[in-house]
Amino acid sequence: MSQDLRSYLDLVESKDELVRISAPVDPRHEVTALVAKLARERRRRPVLLLENVKGSALPVVTNLHASRRRMALAMNAEPRGVQQAFLKAMERPVAPVVVDTGPVKEVVRTGADVDLLALPQIVHHGADAGPYITAAISFAKDPEDGTWNCAYNRLMIMGKDRTSIHITASKHLWEFYQKAEARGEALPVAFAVGVHPAIGLGALAIGSIDEDERAIMGGILREPLELVRCETSDLLVPAHAEIVLEGEIVPGERTPEGPFSEFTGYSLGERQREVVRYNAVTMREGALFHDIAVAQVDHLLLSTIPMESNLYRAVRAIVPSVAAVRVPAPYSCYVAINQRVPGQAKNAILAVLGADMYIKRVVVVDHDVDIFDDREVAWALGTRCQADRDITVISNTRGSDLDPSTDSDGYTAKWGVDATAKPSLAEYTPRNRIPRDVLERIDLDKLGL
Ligand code: MN
Repeated sequence: MSQDLRSYLDLVESKDELVRISAPVDPRHEVTALVAKLARERRRRPVLLLENVKGSALPVVTNLHASRRRMALAMNAEPRGVQQAFLKAMERPVAPVVVDTGPVKEVVRTGADVDLLALPQIVHHGADAGPYITAAISFAKDPEDGTWNCAYNRLMIMGKDRTSIHITASKHLWEFYQKAEARGEALPVAFAVGVHPAIGLGALAIGSIDEDERAIMGGILREPLELVRCETSDLLVPAHAEIVLEGEIVPGERTPEGPFSEFTGYSLGERQREVVRYNAVTMREGALFHDIAVAQVDHLLLSTIPMESNLYRAVRAIVPSVAAVRVPAPYSCYVAINQRVPGQAKNAILAVLGADMYIKRVVVVDHDVDIFDDREVAWALGTRCQADRDITVISNTRGSDLDPSTDSDGYTAKWGVDATAKPSLAEYTPRNRIPRDVLERIDLDKLGL
C-alpha cells in the first residue's frame, strides 16, 4: 500500500470524489465556507484541492476524511467494516522501519530560512484569533524512557518560526512535556502535515501511553510505516509526508492562544498555552498543505472511528456480548449489549468512562435497539428507563478541556444511563408484534399500494 497522500488522492480522484478548484480562494474563512456550503446546499462532501490559495504557493487539500466510504478506502475495508478494521490494526500492530531518506527531504529549510508565514494562512471561523494549522500530527518521545507518541495538536501561527500549541492536559504529549519542563528542558517535537489518511487515523488511536500509534498506522497500512530522521533532532517522521515542521516546545513559556472554534461547535476563549519554536521545515517538491475542515464531517468522522474502536475494545473486555458502540456527538457514547445477566449494563458504563477521557455520557441499551438510529435510543430511554434507578453520576473527574460546559478546563462530571429492560429483555413486557402470517398475507400490489 502506498503511504503518501498523493497516491491516495489519485485513488479518490479515480472514484470521482475529488474536486479541483483553480479559482482564487481567500484563506481567511473561504476554505471553511466552501466546505460548509457545499455540504449544506448541495449535500456534497468531496475532497477539495484548492490550487490557488491567496498568499501562498502551496495548494490546499481539505475535506479529506468527510465520507465513511473514503475512510474505508484508506483502510482497505468496507464502509461497514471500518470499526473492525481499526480494531484489527490495534490488535495486530506493525512496527515502523527507519529508512535513509524519503520524499519529505526533497526541500530542506533550516534556521533563518524557516518561514511558516509562507504556508497557507487559513483562518477557519469568525471568532478565531488567527491562522491555524489543523492537520499537524505531532511525533514526540518521552524524555525519560523513549516511549513514542503521536497526536493531532492544533497550532496557531504566531510568526516565521513560532506557533502556540494546544496540548490536552493529562494526555500523553502533555505527560512528556511535564517531564521535560520539570528539568528545564525543551521537548523536541516534529509535526507531519499531509499524510495518507491511514496515518491520520492511527495518530488518533486511544490507548495506554505505551501503545505506539506508529505501529497502529502500520497495522492499518498492513506494512511498516517508513520513517526518516529529522534534520535538527533525533525524532523520526513519516518519509512520505508532504511537509514536516521540526521544532521544540519551549520550557517555562506560555502565550495567549485562541479563541478557536472547535469540533464541539463552540469557540472557546483565549487561554495560556505552550509555545513551539521551529528549527527546520522539510517538504516534498510541490508540497500540498493539508487542512482539516474544523467541526465539519471531515473532522468528526476522522476522530470517531478510532474512538469507537477503542470503546468497543474496552466494553468487550468486560461484556463479551457487546453488540455495537457508537459516538453520536461530542463526549457521548451509545452502547448496545446482549445482556446475559443483570449488572452488565453498568459494567459497560464503567468500561466506557474508564477507557476514554473525553466521554462524559454513556447510554447502554439492549441489542434489539439500533444505536445508529437516534430515535430508537430515545425510545429506549423513554420506555425502559427510570431516572432515579438507572442513572449513575460520577463527579470531579478529568474530561475534555474543550468542553464549554465545564467550569475549569475539563474538570467534569460524567454520567451513565442504563436504558436496558429490567430485570431482563426476555422478562420485560412484550413489544408490539404483528403476527407474521398476517404480514405475509397482505399483498400491497393487489391493494394498489
Ligand atoms: Mn499515545
